[in-house]
Amino acid sequence: MRVHVTAAEALEGTLVLVNDAHPLQAWPEKDALTAVLPGAPQKPSFPAPSDTPQKLSASALPGALQKPAAPALPDTPQKLSASALPGAPQKPAAPALPDTLQKLSASALSGAPQKPAAPALPDMLQKMPNPALPNTPQVLLRRPAAAMLGALLDSISAAGRIVPVSGWRAHAEQEALYADSVRENGLAFTQTYVALPGCSEHESGLAIDVGEARDEIDFLRPAFPDTGICAAFRAAAPRYGFILRYPEGARHITHIGSEPWHFRYVGVPHAACIAQRGCTLEEYIEALRANTPANPLRLREDGRAYRIFRVPLAEDGAAFDVPAGFLWQASADNCGGLIVTLWGAP
Ligand SMILES: [Zn+2]
Repeated sequence: MRVHVTAAEALEGTLVLVNDAHPLQAWPEKDALTAVLPGAPQKPSFPAPSDTPQKLSASALPGALQKPAAPALPDTPQKLSASALPGAPQKPAAPALPDTLQKLSASALSGAPQKPAAPALPDMLQKMPNPALPNTPQVLLRRPAAAMLGALLDSISAAGRIVPVSGWRAHAEQEALYADSVRENGLAFTQTYVALPGCSEHESGLAIDVGEARDEIDFLRPAFPDTGICAAFRAAAPRYGFILRYPEGARHITHIGSEPWHFRYVGVPHAACIAQRGCTLEEYIEALRANTPANPLRLREDGRAYRIFRVPLAEDGAAFDVPAGFLWQASADNCGGLIVTLWGAP
């Protein structure tokens, strides 16, 4: 089956690289975001593979990392339901959550895509208190990332022990944060730990800062040691689609200092692949340039076969072939390419 993806759709993907050289081209709309609720993970659904290739909805992804033969976490809400197992209805259940980023503003794509207007701060961000941090706003993420973070926290019984400190930030909020930090901490500190407005992953809704639950939590640099529950989080993160985004020793690549508290949702199976390689997202995106449709990266994660390749992404989008029996997902890499992930049957 030949599939065509528009540039706007591609920018909804979870592999979009955001750094000082690659600013965001589209911001998530309000209804693409949802609250992270520690201890109350949302219930993701998993589509049963069908005979015909079809798009794998990002919001249907979260359950995908479960091992169908033997659900590893039978007591957690994200376990596979009977309807997700082979023999279930052909069509995946409609995702309970609205698909992500369907309403990207047209301004993100008209002509030169570099500087669309950032959306205003949604009301909900200001009105909903964060139950984990009573005097701070609610922590929001794009829906698949929020669901997966909830599942990850639940899988290690982290409720009350790990606190989501900062998730999605409105563009205006990142601007204020940067200015405040320059004033309070100086430019050198700020350039090390705070991304330029428009170049922050937090504006994408795919990044989360987590902190060990303590009486005092540093909003910019929460404590997240490599021991105990935090080490368990770090170890489990790749299986749930999250990577440690700014590892030690990679500042020459990421241009951000080591941030043990900052995780980025890139999705399954990419997070596990990045963790296994011990590379950064920048290096992973670069390496995938070698993987054309004729020479895909072949992976096996949790018993499922994947093929990953890159095609050039033009202004009118990109097209690619999906073999029978595969689900597909596609994401702009924000470097001129579309990364296609084919999901084989488990
Ligand atoms: Zn962060």
